[in-house]
Amino acid sequence: MTEPTDTAARGRRLHTTLGALGAQDVGLVLPHEHLLVDFRPAGSPGFARADPAVFASVVDPLLAGAAAAGVTALVECTPPGLGRRVDLVLDASRRTGLPVVVATGVYREPWVPDWVYGASDDELEAWMHRELTEGVEGSGVLAGFIKISAAEDGIRPVEERVVRAAARAAARTGALVGSHTTDGRVVLGQIDLAVAEGLAPDRFLSIHTQTITDPGLRQAIVDRGAWIEFDDVGQGGRDGDARTLELVLDSLAAGQTGRVLLSHDAGWFDPALPGGGTPRPFTDLTGSFLPALRAAGVGAGVLDELCVRNPFRAFAR
Ligand SMILES: [Zn+2]
Repeated sequence: MTEPTDTAARGRRLHTTLGALGAQDVGLVLPHEHLLVDFRPAGSPGFARADPAVFASVVDPLLAGAAAAGVTALVECTPPGLGRRVDLVLDASRRTGLPVVVATGVYREPWVPDWVYGASDDELEAWMHRELTEGVEGSGVLAGFIKISAAEDGIRPVEERVVRAAARAAARTGALVGSHTTDGRVVLGQIDLAVAEGLAPDRFLSIHTQTITDPGLRQAIVDRGAWIEFDDVGQGGRDGDARTLELVLDSLAAGQTGRVLLSHDAGWFDPALPGGGTPRPFTDLTGSFLPALRAAGVGAGVLDELCVRNPFRAFAR
């Protein structure tokens, strides 16, 4: 199923805070990170707020550290409803020179913004389409993909409306739809809904694949043609990546190399915590995880596919 990269990537662009980048412009890309997330209800005092100077003091070192480790771009996966702040992300990206891909889309309940419940299906689709093609909140930055989610025990009605609208907006633009979904059967249901709306299966990404414990379900998602993402690198503390390492090696052995993405789901400035909290860095992948894969016998060409070619093929349009 792996297309020759040159063909798959030709003419496609990764839309970032620093403009549209071609395959030749980027190397290692982190497909799932965050610079600011606020899990509190949207009406909470100080929701999604950050003093720009404090934000810079927390986030700039994270981005600079990533760049120093060889990261050439990262994807900021925070949708509206979880405190998306493209203005702050754009400033941090400009200061550090690291291109960042930002998201449009709608997260799961209870983080669905109020206006979404009152919007028609066409309005939802048009809003996502506009953010992908005209930009986000007057920032001039185009959304680089659509982030959605679903409840763990099944797709709620509003989430079904979102996946359908996202699929239609993505089908019109070639954008990727990435879903935070922890149950593999729910993922397959989302893919069915998206494909019914005209989305090509390779425009769908199943986020947090490490939570899908049944290898048969992971295989089923790949067999449909969708992407899978192991994005908890660095989260387990000392030796904590052993399980993720095993999952990735299993996935490679199962022939899924051309559909696998790797990231940390790290960061981030949390407005609910004093000073934004203490974020995790974006450097465990390059610092320890890739060396561990190498030590396990994974060759340079495969590592390049996982961290350079795959993220571009998944997110560029
Ligand atoms: Zn995340």
